[in-house]
Amino acid sequence: ARRKDSVGVALIGLGGYATHQLAPGLQLAEHCHLAGIVTGSPHKIPVWQEKHGIPDRNVYSYDDFDRIADNPDIQAVYIVTPNDLHMPLTLRAANAGKHVWCEKPMAMDAAEGQAMVDACRRNKVQLTIGYRLQHEPNTQRLVAMAREKPYGKILKVRADAGFHAYDDVDPADKPWRLLPQHGGGAMYDMGVYSLNAARYTSGQEPVAVTARQENRRPQLFEGVDETMYFTLEFADGAVAECATSFGQNMNTLRADCENGWYELSPFQTYSGLKGRTSDGQLFADGVPHQQAKQMDDDALAILNGTAPLVPGEEGVRDMRVVDAVYASARDGGRRIV
Ligand code: NDP
Repeated sequence: ARRKDSVGVALIGLGGYATHQLAPGLQLAEHCHLAGIVTGSPHKIPVWQEKHGIPDRNVYSYDDFDRIADNPDIQAVYIVTPNDLHMPLTLRAANAGKHVWCEKPMAMDAAEGQAMVDACRRNKVQLTIGYRLQHEPNTQRLVAMAREKPYGKILKVRADAGFHAYDDVDPADKPWRLLPQHGGGAMYDMGVYSLNAARYTSGQEPVAVTARQENRRPQLFEGVDETMYFTLEFADGAVAECATSFGQNMNTLRADCENGWYELSPFQTYSGLKGRTSDGQLFADGVPHQQAKQMDDDALAILNGTAPLVPGEEGVRDMRVVDAVYASARDGGRRIV
């Protein structure tokens, strides 16, 4: 039997991130534990049951998962599926009375994201988005600097997140990240890191967006973006130049201010974030396990009945900009957000 002060979590979608980051994170976490699984792959069930001591009654498929409503072992679900399933699974979990932790990007667009927020509010369950970096101390230092402005007004932010991959993919058998119907493309996958970082580093919401898409491997990237460049304009005249890509390695976040600059590079990795400033400060205040920290923060919000650090509304704010990025990339026009 589990302690009453630990949130029982069911992982939905036992793929790469659930297997290699979230399950280990749940083993390290103090305020939550892995209690159940939801999977469409029967062969994974015995492996996960044995490794994590999951009883038969806490194993679900996508078809029978609404029965989770009656399961007192599980208070929260963590949705770690392809992006197109985030919204429908969130609605089902909320209607089953479970708190929802959902991976980024929150949804396919802002309307879906808002429907998720509304469903969770209606069912009085929490909704939080898996922006692990917002729980991470180097990132939190940048958030504080956006407030305190130690180098004066922030004039320009640069946020680049991408990697080169998929050269070996068979165009007839593409993974979901290259398929439009599943929410594929660099913007949804890595671009939301650039976008979210531009927002927390500037401390402001963008008022306008201009975007440009570049596909150098068109046979691989059909109907999805390989590289996206986007510029955010803020009300005080500051701008954020952002880039994201499945074709280029990049991982830098930088703020240029009136009286200096600072940057985190890399800023988006699971560990090893490194910060430096124009006056020679270095910082690298890692945590032992980002996802354990994130899930402990989110579990405590449930246990204490307090607002989560990264609520669904934060995801909707990003999705509104993502919608504008895709719209602008279609015709090059500037979009008011
Ligand atoms: P994977 O492809 O490795 O795993 C996705 C899992 O979803 C599959 O293993 C499968 O699990 C389930 N699934 C359900 N329906 C489908 C379908 N139609 N096609 C494929 N898989 C399906 O993806 P990741 O784990 O890398 O990513 C999952 C989510 O997590 C994404 O939203 C991604 O953006 C996010 N993510 C976030 C990261 C972060 O740092 N915050 C890092 C990596 C990913 P099963 O067989 O059990 O049903």
